[in-house]
This record gives sequence, structure tokens and C-alpha cells, in this order.
Amino acid sequence: MNIKNEGFDGLVIRAQTGIYYVQYDGQVAECILRKKVKREFQSVVGDKRRNIYSDPVAVGDKVIITLSEGNKGAIEDIMPRKSKLSRVAPGSYIKLKSKQTKVPKRLKFQGTALGATPIEEIVVANADQLLITMSTRLPSFNSHLLDRFIIVSEAGGLEPVICVNKIDLLNHKEREEFIKETRVYEDIGYRLFYTSALEKEGLDKLVEVLRDKLTALAGPSGAGKSTLLNVIQPNLNLRMGEVSEKTQKGKHTTTNVELHSLDFGGYVVDTPGIRELGLWDIWKDDMPHFFPEMRPYLTACRFNNCSHVDEPECAIKKAVAEGKIAQMRYNSYLKLRSIAPTGGYSTDET
Ligand code: GDP
Ligand code: ZN
Repeated sequence: MNIKNEGFDGLVIRAQTGIYYVQYDGQVAECILRKKVKREFQSVVGDKRRNIYSDPVAVGDKVIITLSEGNKGAIEDIMPRKSKLSRVAPGSYIKLKSKQTKVPKRLKFQGTALGATPIEEIVVANADQLLITMSTRLPSFNSHLLDRFIIVSEAGGLEPVICVNKIDLLNHKEREEFIKETRVYEDIGYRLFYTSALEKEGLDKLVEVLRDKLTALAGPSGAGKSTLLNVIQPNLNLRMGEVSEKTQKGKHTTTNVELHSLDFGGYVVDTPGIRELGLWDIWKDDMPHFFPEMRPYLTACRFNNCSHVDEPECAIKKAVAEGKIAQMRYNSYLKLRSIAPTGGYSTDET
């Protein structure tokens, strides 16, 4: 029997401890995952099986399901992903905040240090874009944080789109200055627009950006994500994911991520735990490729393994000095490079 032909195409809209809610033909089925699919995502070392992902199925995954009674079903296959936003699964992790990766003592005591690698948690699969919502004030605009979210989208294969909210908090003159300051992002090719959820400004643009797309949401808390979404679609209960994470603060729980469908077409998905996002799979040496304005200069440095930090005759540093690359962005590069891991997550390095 060819299951692919027998099954239904579905979209995973929610996942909860081994139960996947899969939308198909305008209905939602509660599905389990077939063991054989689970096994495909395990590595085998000696007689030990190890999960490659904290969960092989993520919200946003396109899957093939077969159905049984009562709208129950099973996931038979997972389609290749066009993008993914991942993080190190809580509880499996190695903190990447310091210069080098460190293996928690706990892991060493368990005798797993030699083979210890953190597990990847795919927070959302197949998103078209990451809508990064920042505010002008309260909290104040933080270009480094924005750059960090941009790198996360670049690395995950999503288009970053920047929404600057709370434009109402600036007077006319401040707006002009602000627009000048943020123009650097448009100059390097990113979409950027201004909104005020309060004064209902820029909302048409927001709708246009979201329409018929699968959009992951990011941004510092308080920037106005929920308010904005609520203004364009009042029945959208975006808070859910965040609340469940907050009440279980301190515990290692998987986050409650859910696709919300938009009445005008498309889906949004909030990404709680976004701060850890992207610290998966971004190595120091890959970093320059995620800065589009750096790409044209990358082959022009004197050393072909130039880190663009302190080497002589560095084409990137020259471009910064000549104003072709914004100083602010270069500073973000230096900062992000310094926290990114050097190579694999192997413990040999610590
Ligand atoms: P979230 O954490 O990103 O979801 O932020 P919220 O949507 O909860 O908004 C945080 C606070 O900012 C709330 O008190 C909102 O009323 C306020 N807020 C949201 N959008 C705007 C805006 O455009 N202008 C102003 N002045 N306040 C806003
Ligand atoms: Zn260089």
C-alpha cells in the first residue's frame, strides 16, 4: 500500500506532548506520530538511540496523515521544510552566552559528556517570514536586538520584515530623525514599516504583509505585538503561548506554539522563548553571510579566512570606514560573532 497516495495532506497547527493537531480539508484531526517516522529522526550510537530533535514534528509542518474514527489520526510522513526557526531545546542545552560553549556539570555527571550535544527544538517550520516588531519607545528601539532577530531569520531561511510600532510616541521632528536612523535597514534590502496600534496607523500595511503568508512573530515584550494583532483581528488569542510559558517559569517545558489563522488569509505564530532562538546552528564563520551588505566584500579581504575583526587589509573594515557599511550594523556583527560558537557543539572544545 502506498500510504502517500492513501493519506491526506495536512498542516500541523499545534503540538502538545505527543499529540499533533493537524488541519486538513477544513477540519482538525488529533494525530499521533507513527513510530517508524519517529525512528527516522533518531541517531544510533552503539545500542543507544538518540533523538535528533526534541520533537520531530513542529508546528507549521506539512504532513501526510491517515485517519481513524472520531477525527483521530496518525502522521505517516513529514514533508521537507522550506524554513525553520530553531533553538536549543530547554533541558538539553549548553548555554551559549559565554565566549565558548560549556557543558553543564549535570551532563558530565551523567557520564554523557563525551557524546553530549544539545538537542534542536524546531519552534516553527515553513514560516515565510519573521515579523520583527520593535517599538520606538517603551521599550526603546534596540538595533542590536533587531539585528539579532534578523540573523535568526536569515539563518532559518525566512524573510525578516521589520515593523516599528508606537510611532505615536514621537513628535514630528523625532519621527524624521528616527526614519533616517532606520533607513539603513531599507538600504540593505529589508522591508520596514511604521505602525501605531493606538492611533491605528500603518495597519493596512501590516495586513498586506501578513496576508496569505505563514508569519512567525518576534520582538521584545511590550513592543505591542498582541495589541497590533488584536486590532486587525479581535478574536485572535495570541497570548496563549506566552502565558503558559510564564506560569511555568523556571521549569524546562516545551513552549506552547500554535498557528492562528487570519480571517483575511494566512497564519501567524507567536514564538515564545525567542531570546534563545537562533542560537542554534549559527557559527562564527557563517555570521558574515547573514549580513547582506557584507556579502559583496567577502572575497576582497587579504586573508581568505578573515574574521573581519582585527585583521589587516580587511575589506569589511574598509567598507565600514568609508561609510558603505553602517557602523551600527558592524558593531552588531562583532557582538553576535563574539557569542556565536566556534565550531560544532562538541565538548572537546571546552
Ligand atoms: P507585546 O508584549 O509585544 O505583545 O506588547 P503588548 O501588545 O502587550 O503592548 C504593550 C503595551 O504597549 C500595552 O500597554 C499597549 O497598550 C501598548 N501599546 C501597544 N501598541 C501601542 C502603540 O502603537 N502606541 C502606544 N503608545 N502604546 C502601544
Ligand atoms: Zn575581512
